[in-house]
Amino acid sequence: MSEALMQNTTQQIIVGLGERSYPIDIGAGLLSRTPLFEQLPQQILLLSNTIVEPLYGDKVRAQLQHHTVVTHLIEDGEGAKSFANYEAVMDTLIRHNFNRDCAIIALGGGVVGDLAGFVAATYQRGVAFYQIPTTLLAQVDSSVGGKTAINHAGGKNLVGAFYQPRAVLIDTDCLTTLNARDYACGLAEVVKYGIIADAEFFAWLEAHQNELNQRDAAALTYAIQRSCEIKAEVVAADEREQSVRALLNLGHTFGHAIEAAHYESWKHGEAVAAGTIIAAYLMHQQDRLSSNDFTRIETLLQQLNLPVRAPQMPLERWQTFMQRDKKVQAGVVRLVLPTAIGQACLEPWSDWQALGTAIAAMSH
Ligand code: NAD
Ligand code: MG
Repeated sequence: MSEALMQNTTQQIIVGLGERSYPIDIGAGLLSRTPLFEQLPQQILLLSNTIVEPLYGDKVRAQLQHHTVVTHLIEDGEGAKSFANYEAVMDTLIRHNFNRDCAIIALGGGVVGDLAGFVAATYQRGVAFYQIPTTLLAQVDSSVGGKTAINHAGGKNLVGAFYQPRAVLIDTDCLTTLNARDYACGLAEVVKYGIIADAEFFAWLEAHQNELNQRDAAALTYAIQRSCEIKAEVVAADEREQSVRALLNLGHTFGHAIEAAHYESWKHGEAVAAGTIIAAYLMHQQDRLSSNDFTRIETLLQQLNLPVRAPQMPLERWQTFMQRDKKVQAGVVRLVLPTAIGQACLEPWSDWQALGTAIAAMSH
């Protein structure tokens, strides 16, 4: 990989979705850039949470001095993606007489982004939406692709809309304050992109793991850029997840089972890492993934401080949770399976004996 790619400059990616295309700008210090976004409307609702706003709220508002800005804060955590908060944000917009020509800016992780996006999609049938993602997961995953949602007691993300932002601004400096586990969780999704789509990127990640672990701005800018490019390409080809977008679920069918069974102790990215190893081991057992590739995947995840063994669970438990996956068709689980570094396929899988063996081997 040429060192030019590692220079600490701002990168821009365009998510190509016809008239809904939008730019993602990535770089260190972008929160201090004037203007933050082109052609922002006058009325702005800044949606953030009680952790992120004290860290970065002033910086963002300092760039919006010529606008009318109302800040709405939600509590920290997944529980904040609620109907109650949705309604409370709507109340704020209405109380301040926000009209259709307003903008919602999300400042925070995936929780803030998903709620803000759903508010933007539905307030007066849709208003301008901008994202400033502040976790690595939000920067490489949830801010790209236009899925917005809130949770229902019956399940996560059950109520939502596809709604694209006008622009996304990613300041890698925000990651300096992120805790180690959330940071590693974002890296799990970064590694996923290398495995499913880009062997050269995977090799770059292997070569730059120290810089990544040190949160080096130049390395982060490139890793985020390449991740967003891959996700953007997949989304452009299949916005509503009818085909290739499912590949972004590598490790997720197993991961969701781990999260469902141990939701208090396992974070999403950690469960995805352990799930990716099961999928890779299954393919290795079937002679469809080389032992060298399996070892490289396991080693890289480990070196990025991610777990590579799942918790012990009886196979019936795995089966119950995995049958709830939204990729299940006619009762048959469909798995995203790596066949080489840089290549994966989506396949119906009914051989639970082979699955059980792979799961047991990759659990402890
Ligand atoms: P999160 O938003 O809860 O953020 C994780 C933690 O980091 C929180 O405690 C948050 O307050 C804190 N935080 C955020 N930015 C920080 C910063 N710069 N410094 C210090 N602390 C900071 O979680 P997440 O992992 O960003 O996102 C998870 C959510 O994203 C889930 O609800 C998931 O469903 C959703 N998601 C959506 C998509 C999509 O396509 N829309 C994709 C993946 C995940
Ligand atoms: Mg994920």
